[in-house]
Amino acid sequence: MLELQRLDQNATALRAELEGMPKRQREADAKLSGERTALTSAKEALTQALAQRKKLELDVEQWKVRAKKYREQSSSVKTNEAYKALQHEITTADSEAGKAEDLVLEQMMKVEEAERRVKRLEAELKESQQVIAAEKKQIEEQFAGKKKAWEAATAERRGIAKKIPEELLELYERIAKKHPGTALAQVRDGQCKACGLRALPHTVQLLESDTDEEIFRCESCGRILYSLEPIAHAAPKESATGAANS
Ligand SMILES: [Zn+2]
Repeated sequence: MLELQRLDQNATALRAELEGMPKRQREADAKLSGERTALTSAKEALTQALAQRKKLELDVEQWKVRAKKYREQSSSVKTNEAYKALQHEITTADSEAGKAEDLVLEQMMKVEEAERRVKRLEAELKESQQVIAAEKKQIEEQFAGKKKAWEAATAERRGIAKKIPEELLELYERIAKKHPGTALAQVRDGQCKACGLRALPHTVQLLESDTDEEIFRCESCGRILYSLEPIAHAAPKESATGAANS
């Protein structure tokens, strides 16, 4: 029965690990999707920066066209006033074209910055994808290994459970529901090791005698008590379970 409890503890630990694995995968997926989102918005920012550059370039173009048109007109004006007015328009158009050119230069720097950001995020995403793909593979392998171990433990448990009297097994299962992995409690120095209650000296004595087949339960926590001395029906199984272990 101690072997049964050991296997149950083992199976519980394995199951916890198995159940933790999808969470690890989800976390990895969340990291990737976060990086993808960041890349998408960086690409959008780049598109906008490019559009803005285009718009500013058109402004430059328009002011230059306008200045050229005024210059052409100025050669054919009749009055001095009209000529002066045109000169003024030309100066304004030239100055606006210059301002727009400065803005284009500024915008070109913004575009470059946005391009660098996109490249950096692309590289980061690529690296994460590789790391996470390797991680996932590792998780899957671990999962398969643990699953196998769990199945083996389950099969071994079935074999051992068969050798235990049905009533005793039912009692064990019932207590194990309440105290998973510790339905059996060792008595040491006259105390239940699980809850600390002092066991009756008579009970301890009987537990330590090889001949007794009776089951004793802790009066406080209800666990099945056992002594370091193997209890009678467990003794002959010792070699069998030992062999199954190796
Ligand atoms: Zn107890």
